[in-house]
Amino acid sequence: MSSMTLLTKKLAKLLKFLFAVCLLSASSLVMAQDDALDNAYWSGSDPYLRWPLPPGAEQYGRIDGRQMYDWVVEQAEISRRYRDQGNQFWGRIIGTSSDAESADWLVDRFNEIGLSNVYIQPLDLLPQWLPQSWEVTVSTGAQTRKLESAQPFYASVGTGSDGIELDVVYVGLGSEADFEGKDVRGKAVFAYTMLGLPSMNARRHAGERGAAAVFEVEMLPGNMKFQGYPSGVDVPAFTLGSEDGFAVRDMTVGAGLNPPKVTVKMDVERVPNLQTALVWGSLPGATDETIYIMAHRDGWFDASGDNASGVASMLALAQYYAAIPQAERQRTLIFIGLDGHHNTGEGSTVGGRWLADNREELFDKTALVINAEHPSTVQTQVRARYLREGGEPKDEISWANTYMPQQWYAGGNSRPNLEAIAVNAFREFGVSILLEPNDVPPAGDLGRVYRFTPGVATSEFFHYFHTDMETPETVPWTGLEASTRAYARIIDRVNELELGDLQRPEEQL
Ligand SMILES: [Zn+2]
Repeated sequence: MSSMTLLTKKLAKLLKFLFAVCLLSASSLVMAQDDALDNAYWSGSDPYLRWPLPPGAEQYGRIDGRQMYDWVVEQAEISRRYRDQGNQFWGRIIGTSSDAESADWLVDRFNEIGLSNVYIQPLDLLPQWLPQSWEVTVSTGAQTRKLESAQPFYASVGTGSDGIELDVVYVGLGSEADFEGKDVRGKAVFAYTMLGLPSMNARRHAGERGAAAVFEVEMLPGNMKFQGYPSGVDVPAFTLGSEDGFAVRDMTVGAGLNPPKVTVKMDVERVPNLQTALVWGSLPGATDETIYIMAHRDGWFDASGDNASGVASMLALAQYYAAIPQAERQRTLIFIGLDGHHNTGEGSTVGGRWLADNREELFDKTALVINAEHPSTVQTQVRARYLREGGEPKDEISWANTYMPQQWYAGGNSRPNLEAIAVNAFREFGVSILLEPNDVPPAGDLGRVYRFTPGVATSEFFHYFHTDMETPETVPWTGLEASTRAYARIIDRVNELELGDLQRPEEQL
């Protein structure tokens, strides 16, 4: 082929391409309202890739990710109202007014959708850990810094009203080797950790060596507040964002016998006589066999991914099946807004325990339990290689135009039929998942009932999980849509099976 012909061919190809681009741009003006073309390339406002509805699945087009997203926003607003009432420890916190507001909100949505038998089942709580206020400051004499990102580990002990002042000790990652030769007794230990690292047991090491306070720095970019589960030490314990954490570390450089001092003041209460609730609604079917769809209502901060997204998914399923005549609904669908589990420890998950205690009555004829928990999270990369700003590596969590793969469980080894249904549904609707299922449900509320019900759960727990950056924007509507459509497909396929194909004696699991 002569070079001339090659050039002509290349030009022709280029012209063809340009023509195609022009056509697309022109049509996009006309079709800007069209769902099918709604992504950033055309609209410039919404970056997310949307999985097209496969042939034969047109009915699931009624499950709408944008509407679910609005429900996520409304739940985040409940959290923010609670925060704006002056609650430093905020979210949809079990036992508080934000819990009650979330239950009322869910009742309203259930009624709007037209569920029957909608009611709130109140549940008594043991005294709840509720920190009233806290403040952490570090000082070298020359400079003082308020650690804005300090967030107490759940159930952390407080200090007296005068607070405590302690020497700072830097222990790196906090492994045993890091503590070697360091005297931490009566001091404040600062240890550093990164999502993805194995635990170095820094808090335990600090506790065993007599530390008087423990700080664990999350080294993700920014200065996120991260709410940790109980620290396992009986001294005040906090997480810190990386900007605060690195600042403290740098203050220790060259300090020698004059380490920085940290001042901690935290007022903690255990509040008795609070209540939480299960929120129920149902759609009677053609038989009294049941399928349960549940989602926990509680969460820290905006709690958008964990678990406004799951509640939104549950609502979209309720709405989808409410539009189908009762005679065509093979089984009765029961929806439960669970209290949740973030009030970890003794007396937590009262709703889940109640379900387990009443399992014979509730799950005798149950073909499936779907627990909707964190079904959509924006795909992220931390400090993406070669992304630069002003010549320096970009210190940020970068967002992608899609959603994260989820961990998943679908009935476990004893139900290969349910696993196959689930995997096919995930594939059909573009739900990104890990290749390998979890042996038992990923952490969450299915854990209470999966031993005696056929359960399905998909969940994601990544960079924004349990942080104050877990805003509605971290929940792509496209992922909500994909997961929820897949759940509906799973329900419909399970309805083609007999109870006996799914139920297993508890002891066989
Ligand atoms: Zn959760």
